[in-house]
Amino acid sequence: MSRIPAVDQECCISCEVCVHLCPEVFRMEGEDGHSHGHDHDHGAHKSIVYNPTGAPESKIELAMDSCPAACIYWRD
Ligand code: SF4
Repeated sequence: MSRIPAVDQECCISCEVCVHLCPEVFRMEGEDGHSHGHDHDHGAHKSIVYNPTGAPESKIELAMDSCPAACIYWRD
């Protein structure tokens, strides 16, 4: 069973590193004009996992390791 990544919305600093490294899995909330029903605090875009199985775990782990706030984790 593959692991499911998640982003801690509280600590995401909206740097977009994960989105650039692994766009198949992460994207900035609020892009594409599509709302996911979350509250938009201060209008800041934060990273969300929109396709948990969109990339190999190794690629997701690279984004994880590169996140400056270390807020991407495996939800299992
Ligand atoms: S790399 Fe981390 S801090 Fe940067 S946007 Fe992604 S989850 Fe947020």
